[in-house]
This record gives sequence, structure tokens and C-alpha cells, in this order.
Amino acid sequence: MQEKIWLSLATMGGEEKRFVQEAFDTNWVVPMGPNVKGFEQDLQRFLGGHKPVAALSAGTAALHLALRMLGIGPGDEVICQSFTFVASASPITFLGATPIFVDSEPGTWNLSPIYLEEAIKGRIQQTGKKPKAIIGVDLYGMPAMWVEIGTIAEKYEIPLIEDAAEALGSSLGGRMCGTFGKFGILSFNGNKIITTSGGGALVCPDEAAQNKTVFLATQARDSAPHYEHTEIGFNYRLSNVCAGIGRGQMMALPGFIERRRTIHAIYTQLLADVPGITVMQSPSPAFESNYWLTTILIGGRGERLKTEDRRLKTEGLERLTAIREKVRLALEAEEIESRPLWKPMHLQPVFKDAPFYGDGTSECLFAKGLCLPSGAGLKDGDIERVVNVIRH
Ligand SMILES: *Cc1c(COP(=O)(O)O)cnc(C)c1O
Repeated sequence: MQEKIWLSLATMGGEEKRFVQEAFDTNWVVPMGPNVKGFEQDLQRFLGGHKPVAALSAGTAALHLALRMLGIGPGDEVICQSFTFVASASPITFLGATPIFVDSEPGTWNLSPIYLEEAIKGRIQQTGKKPKAIIGVDLYGMPAMWVEIGTIAEKYEIPLIEDAAEALGSSLGGRMCGTFGKFGILSFNGNKIITTSGGGALVCPDEAAQNKTVFLATQARDSAPHYEHTEIGFNYRLSNVCAGIGRGQMMALPGFIERRRTIHAIYTQLLADVPGITVMQSPSPAFESNYWLTTILIGGRGERLKTEDRRLKTEGLERLTAIREKVRLALEAEEIESRPLWKPMHLQPVFKDAPFYGDGTSECLFAKGLCLPSGAGLKDGDIERVVNVIRH
């Protein structure tokens, strides 16, 4: 039996146990403490230093709090990139608001500026009200078109939230992902580029927002000797033990990013001559992905996503899905884990009534796309094994 190759396993850098041991030795086995502060400072420094960070129990919690801080409530509409993991959208519903889904553009696979503006205009026309926030995502580590998206957000004065859960270490024009919106979301779940065994963070515009985030994340306890509450809060703070893992992981992060980028480069080189396979590349050198996952498109003419592909009707999409599944199952038969790209939110049964603005780009990506094993612990020989199955 061959050894299983997984999609994205967590890798330890070596220093994690020291920080966790310290938490035990000093009896800081609690949901706060020196590792939490230290981890927050490590993250702030890594992101360029100008934005304070609040460490939380999950990326989903961070997004929930970002929306809560923006005052989103029942009856509001929030625009969200459709092509993403469900956690980008579900917090909208936690607050009783309605998601409005917007398609991707073919260069980055992220929020389309064209359909974003169409959605804003469409909602104003239909409801007489502006959407209250915009959630864009840096999917698989690729930065979204933040310059164009930011211009539209500013024009309509709608706050922007950057879901950078998959993009720690990516940058656009030299600026770190996570810092493009009013708020930025990070995740340290087990499969992300760094892990705290489960955790997340909210990148805040200033210290007041950071303090308010921590306040809401610790049951919104007012300052009084007894327990006094004027607002409803949550239990969303990261534990000092988990933050210790995070501090060790931050020391290893530059190496993880370098390895994931190398893995992407090796796939690109080895798959270059395989007809019908396109490895996802950044649209220009300004877009520097951490290549959290290397992704490929299968079928078609072996070029970038074409306009005619995007207009495919159900029948054409089913044919492409069947080819993609054949490749995925062939990999599985050889003990290699791969996964289809995210199924767009506007196609999810749970969101079947939510409005959608787009041309089918994300549907086509879902039909054609596959994520390949990309963990930092992957050996060069593992990559060759994957490529040989695809080539075959
Ligand atoms: C992982 C992820 C999240 C959620 O983060 P958790 O820490 O798992 O709650 C949100 N958005 C995207 C795009 C993700 O990949």
C-alpha cells in the first residue's frame, strides 16, 4: 500500500511545544494570557504593523464580529463573493441579514468588480437601500482585485470586509492581504497555512475597534466589580494554549509560504505539457499568492477560462464535471486526496433564495477545477506521483 498523500496537512515548525509548555508552567491555561498578546503582536507586525489584531476562536467568529461591529442586523443586505467556503457567508445569516451573492472574475477567481457594481445598483433600484457591507475573499491565497473593488466600495460608501482566511502571507502591490478592508479575517484552522488547532483573528482599523472586538468576544462585560452587561456578547476569545501554538507557527510561516510557492512552481513546470490542464497563475506580478493550495482547471482548450466556457449551459457543465471527477477518482484510487473547487454559494440549497449577480464564471470554475495536494510537508517525489496520475 502506498502512503496516503493529503490535500493540506498541518506542519509543525518546532517551537510550538515550547510556547505551550510555557503556558502550562506558568499556569496560564485560560482563554487569555501572554501568548494571546504575543500572537496578536506577531500577526500585527507580519501584516505591516499599522493594524491592530484581535485573536479569536475561529475565522467564522471574526467575520461574525466584523459584521456585528458594522451594525448589520435584520432586514439588511450584505454582498458576498459567491465562489467561497460557506463560512464567508453564514455569519450574515447569524445576524438576521440577507446575503447577496456576486460572481467571480476570471483573472483572480475572486469578486468581480463589474458584477459588484451591478449588484449595488440593482439592490438600490429594487429595495431603495444600499447593501450594508461587502465581503470579498482571497481564495486559495490569490489576492482579489482590491484596487478596483476598493474604488467601488468608496464610491458607494459601503464598508469592505476582506476574508483573508486562506491568504496569510499573500500580498497585492506589496501590501499584505488582510489589510485591504475596514476589517480583515484570518483563520488558523487545521488545514490553513498556519494552525492553532482551530482559531482565527480580526484585523481591525484601530485600537478602539480592537478593544471593542475583545469586549464583544468576552461576553461584553462592562467595567464594574460585579458582572454588568448593557450589550450581548459572545465567547469567542482564543485560548492561551492555542495562541502558544500560533506563536510557534508564526516563526515557521515564512518557510511555509516559500514551500507552498515552490510546490506551485513544481506543479506548473511538470504539468506544462499536459494538454487540457491549466495550473492557476496570478494575473500579474503584483498579485503575490501564498499558494495555500495549487489549483488546476481540467478540460477545454488548456488556456485560461474562456468567455465561451462561462456561458456554457447545464449540459456543457455536466460534461466538464464528469471529466474533473474522472481525474479526482483516479487520484483517489492511488491514495491521493484532491478536492473540487468551492461550490458557489448561489448554488447551495441553503441559499437557494438569495439574489445572485454574475455570468456563470464561478459555476464553470466549480465544474472544471480541482485542488491538488499542497501541504508544506509535501515532498518533491509526492508531487511527481500526483502529476503522473493526472498525466496518465
Ligand atoms: C477557513 C475559512 C473560513 C473560516 O475560518 P474558520 O477558522 O474555519 O472558522 C472563512 N472563509 C474562508 C474563505 C475560509 O477558507
